[in-house]
Amino acid sequence: LFDMDGVLFNSMPNHAESWHKVMLRFGFGLSRDEAYMHEGRTGASTINIISRRERGHDATEEEIKAIYQAKTEEFNKCPMAERMPGAYEVLTKIKEEGLIPMVVTGSGQTSLLDRLNHNFPGIFKKELMVTAFNVKYGKPNPEPYLMALKKAHLQPNEALVIENAPLGVQAGVAAGIFTIAVNTGPLPDQVLWDEGANLLFPSMPAFNENWEILKNLFTSTLCLQILRKIQNDKTK
Ligand code: CA
Repeated sequence: LFDMDGVLFNSMPNHAESWHKVMLRFGFGLSRDEAYMHEGRTGASTINIISRRERGHDATEEEIKAIYQAKTEEFNKCPMAERMPGAYEVLTKIKEEGLIPMVVTGSGQTSLLDRLNHNFPGIFKKELMVTAFNVKYGKPNPEPYLMALKKAHLQPNEALVIENAPLGVQAGVAAGIFTIAVNTGPLPDQVLWDEGANLLFPSMPAFNENWEILKNLFTSTLCLQILRKIQNDKTK
């Protein structure tokens, strides 16, 4: 179950820059690094957190609408985000091995969703995608990942989550799924470990290079027994 921004596309620098610029324009302080900490939240939720911190109350519906629209316009002005190096390579292997790659994203940017099929031809099935349009709460709530399991008729121990953001890792872990963090942004690794990441790679090429080792581990009986034990202990 692949997150999209920061995992499949190198789109996070554009998001962070747009958030920073637009919030400043509306009189709020949001650094680029803080934008990475909020990655995965809905726009309204991010705006309200900053508003409460700086003014002691939520933003109005009108403010949220205006800020989010300005942010989207700013984002659309940015150069198109490149495909994340290593992403297509690992997806191709996963697909050839008979596993089902799925996208689980909080994004509702139609431009990015359309680009998935163009950049990763033949990898994803539209009916198995979970996007902003399918969920009510979004990450860090486990809802998007639980919905992905439901769509593919999978149990939590039959899936893997690939995430780059703290809140995304939190969502994957809360859904009871083995969660692999890929730290493609500027935050320290510890932030991702603190959210409960089960493994961490420094980049998508590193994840791709280690996929065979991981796959062998995951299909070994001993490893499966250990994973089941961890999961049982968690639910106790
Ligand atoms: Ca992400």
